[in-house]
This record gives sequence, structure tokens and C-alpha cells, in this order.
Amino acid sequence: MAATLIDGKARAAALRAQVTTDVAAFVAAHGRPPGLATVLVGDDAGSQIYVAGKQRACVEVGIRGFDHRLEPDTPRAAVLALLDDLNADPDVSGILCQLPVPAHLDGLELTNRIAADKDVDGLSVASAGRLALGLPGLRPCTPTGVMLLLAEQGVEPQGLEAVVIGRSNLFGKPMGQLLLAANATVTTCHSRTADLAAICRRADVLVAAVGVPHLVQGDWVKPGAVVVDGGMNRLDTGLTGDVDFAAASEVARAITPVPGGVGPMTIACLLRNTLQAAELAFAG
Ligand code: NAP
Repeated sequence: MAATLIDGKARAAALRAQVTTDVAAFVAAHGRPPGLATVLVGDDAGSQIYVAGKQRACVEVGIRGFDHRLEPDTPRAAVLALLDDLNADPDVSGILCQLPVPAHLDGLELTNRIAADKDVDGLSVASAGRLALGLPGLRPCTPTGVMLLLAEQGVEPQGLEAVVIGRSNLFGKPMGQLLLAANATVTTCHSRTADLAAICRRADVLVAAVGVPHLVQGDWVKPGAVVVDGGMNRLDTGLTGDVDFAAASEVARAITPVPGGVGPMTIACLLRNTLQAAELAFAG
């Protein structure tokens, strides 16, 4: 294998350690910890695991967790009222509404109810608008994690050709915007893109945010490129990415593995965003 392995697990551990130190400094300065409120409506098993992981991560770094679990048939008005209460609560620095929500609710409406300065998932219209306009704000966690991995690798995006495969609001779109903000020349690809392989071959930085196992072949990778595999595909054989790792590793300069690449960065960035939201609240 020629490529350097980009170790997201180690980078995420270092980021969590940094957040722990910074949270302690925040407590010393302000007399109370940052707080993260999670709102989970319903009993989706995957969502319960995700929320439990986020709450556990809070405890580990000294952030206070507020874990709100609501019945699957909780009326819309009651969920909105809870979000309003959390928006007004000074002990709550950040709020996230775990998606998906039950069919009688609108996930985007709930996300948009979260005050922009507490929107630690960075998924509301206000947060997306701030990112699109280049204004300060809380950025989505997974693409933020990718930017941190690139920085750790010494990749300076300015002037590079960056190709992002995927245009979801959660990952692909903000990924492209963060790379654009870092002065890369960005192409965003999707399921209707013609000759995806040829576009990928132009990329100095190739980010796969698709959800199709091993879509990206070795000969789609430009020699010397940095390949970031955001895919998290659960197969019978285990977790796998969107990139043919073995083949791409022979061509790329650096590459993220799955698991152990982008995945661990997401919760670490959520903790970082929560601290950032708390600091902003005090800065006024
Ligand atoms: P998504 O909402 O399903 O979006 C997938 C995107 O990929 C869409 O834009 C889609 O195009 C595009 N696409 C699908 N098939 C394609 C193909 N054959 N060729 C080119 N483009 C194609 O998924 P997502 O939420 O962005 O997640 C993407 C992947 O990242 C998933 O594996 C997910 O598990 C992973 N993920 C990981 C983390 C983490 O590490 N913590 C967080 C979030 C997501 P259209 O828009 O045209 O449909």
C-alpha cells in the first residue's frame, strides 16, 4: 500500500482531549459547564444508540447532557414547546433533534425551531444560510470533521481541485461549501452526474459522501490524491466505505479507512460545536 492512512480515530481522540481541557477552562471562567440537549421522539433503535453515544460522549468531556426522550405519538405542539423551552434555557448551550422523526412530525420544522446559535448539528435553514453566505455559525459535524482531517494531513485546499460525491444537506452540500470557503475549486457530483469516474480523476481531494459500497474504483483516483471516504455502509461482512480501499490505496497519497476514518470525527465535532456555542453565548 502506497497511501498514508489518515487515522480518524486518533484525531478524534485528540480533539476530545482538547475539548475536555477547554471545557474545564470554560467551567473555571463561567462557573458552569456547557450543556447539550438531545431530543429523541419515538423508539427507533438506531436513534436510541446514537443519542446514547452522544450523551455518553458529553459526560466524558465534562459537558452537561440533557436527554429528552418523548413518546412516538407526542403531539407536534409539545415537541415545539420543548424546543422553545430549551432555546430559552441558559444552561443549554446546544440542542439537537435526532432524525428521523415519526411520520406525523416534520424533521425540518423541528430542526428549524432550534435557535441558530444553539444549532450544534448545523442543519437548520439559518445555519445552512450562514454557511452559504460565509457568515460565522455552527457547521455540520461530519464535513467539519473531514476538514479537520485534511488539516491534520497538511492538506491546504487553496487552489486544489476538490470533488465531492453526494449533495445531501447533511454531508455533501456543506462539505462542498466548506472546501469552497477554504478556496478549493469544488465540483459536487450526484446520482445524475455524467461520467463520474472522469470527474473524480481530476480531484486532488476526493470526498465520497454517497452510501454506495465501493462505488469509487482505484482507477477513479488521480495519482497522489487525498481520498476521504465518508461512506458508512453496513454489510453482512461489517462496516465498509464508498471507496474500494485496497485499490485506491495503491494510487492515493493519503486515504481514510472505514471504520476509523471520518466516522469517529462526527461526535468529536458535535462536542466541539457545543463548546463553541457555549462560548458564543457568553461572548454575547
Ligand atoms: P444521502 O442523503 O442518501 O445522500 C447520498 C448522495 O449520494 C446523494 O446526493 C445522491 O445523489 C448521491 N448518490 C447516490 N448514488 C450515487 C451514485 N451511484 N453516483 C453518484 N452519486 C450518488 O446520504 P448522506 O446522509 O449524505 O450520507 C452519505 C454517506 O455518508 C452514507 O454512507 C452515510 O452513512 C455516511 N455518513 C456518515 C457519517 C459519519 O461518518 N458519521 C455522517 C453522515 C453520513 P442524488 O442527490 O442525486 O440522489
